Amino acid sequence: MTAKPLKRVLVTGGAGQIAYNLLFRIATGEMLGFDQPLALHILELPEAMKPLEGVRMELEDCAFPLLKEVHIGSDAEELFGDVHYALLVGAKPRGPGMERGDLLKENAKIFIEQGRALNSVADPDVKVLVVGNPCNTNCLITMTNAPRIPRKNFHAMTRLDQNRAVAQLALRAHVEVSSITNMTIWGNHSSTQVPDFVNAKISGKPVLDVIKDHSWLENEFVGTVQKRGAAVIASRGKSSAASAASSAIDAIKSLVTPTPRGEWFSSGVCSDENSYGVQENLIFSFPCRSKGDGHYEIVDNIPWNTFLREKIHASERELLEERSLLEGGVS
Ligand code: NDP
Repeated sequence: MTAKPLKRVLVTGGAGQIAYNLLFRIATGEMLGFDQPLALHILELPEAMKPLEGVRMELEDCAFPLLKEVHIGSDAEELFGDVHYALLVGAKPRGPGMERGDLLKENAKIFIEQGRALNSVADPDVKVLVVGNPCNTNCLITMTNAPRIPRKNFHAMTRLDQNRAVAQLALRAHVEVSSITNMTIWGNHSSTQVPDFVNAKISGKPVLDVIKDHSWLENEFVGTVQKRGAAVIASRGKSSAASAASSAIDAIKSLVTPTPRGEWFSSGVCSDENSYGVQENLIFSFPCRSKGDGHYEIVDNIPWNTFLREKIHASERELLEERSLLEGGVS
């Protein structure tokens, strides 16, 4: 049997915590398949090239059979050439006393540059997953700066939020995580995100038929999922890098494997005139399905009750505000 053609996978922030948990799993074949030869393209800031060189050595030392090439560098235009998947992980963290608007603007500079580089040299059908926060708005900036690439190829990661929600429901209902399906995260990957327990299912039944404590669902469940990142930092003293990396793998896997019948997954994708009345041109998390060809469609007609509607609109307002904070602030 002839080997499949090489796929090129770009990861930015390559010397960071998430990347350290991500690169080795990609290289095993977990993300794109155990028969898929790979090249890794890894970007870092010039000042982090030394630790990145150490990561490159470790990748080499693993002697992964699927990993055919590793390219490292700090010049996006040089490194992004012909990549098929781009996982944009590196981002500027909020510094002491930094305002949200300043954080958005600092990150905008990074994602403008990376969007332009993708636009000029990446594979024309590259699939882009933005992990670096604020990921929805960073994704919007990247997409806006890469007009050659179809808008439907851009995603902001809300898969970790979905996975967290699934785990919390499974724990509460004393079932396996695989019994929880149809879990949507609506909106922004922030504390305004909306984990939808109304339309999720436990062993094929509506969650509300299995977990009768509606107050727990509306308060503890939603709050735990929204604030889980902060809880991990408070406990571990570091952010949730391993679970973020694992969810990034899940997010891409959901695009390259057919979604089971009747199921969906959550991803932050660009809203258009047909997406639940959400204002157009926002990167907003919706329930999505894929045929396994790397593309997706938004699942429509999922009903919102008053609780969901109010919360989803609040998340939409936050994203509109993030977008407006940028307008005129970067070029
Ligand atoms: P991490 O690898 O832990 O995180 C990277 C980004 O992912 C941050 O924006 C972080 O957001 C975000 N993120 C999303 N979900 C999660 C989650 N569940 N848990 C933790 N983080 C999450 O950061 P490090 O500081 O370890 O590494 C970042 C690297 O990126 C550095 O090595 C830096 O040099 C590099 N970098 C590269 C750039 C480039 O390639 N041009 C540009 C900027 C940075 P949050 O801040 O909210 O935790």
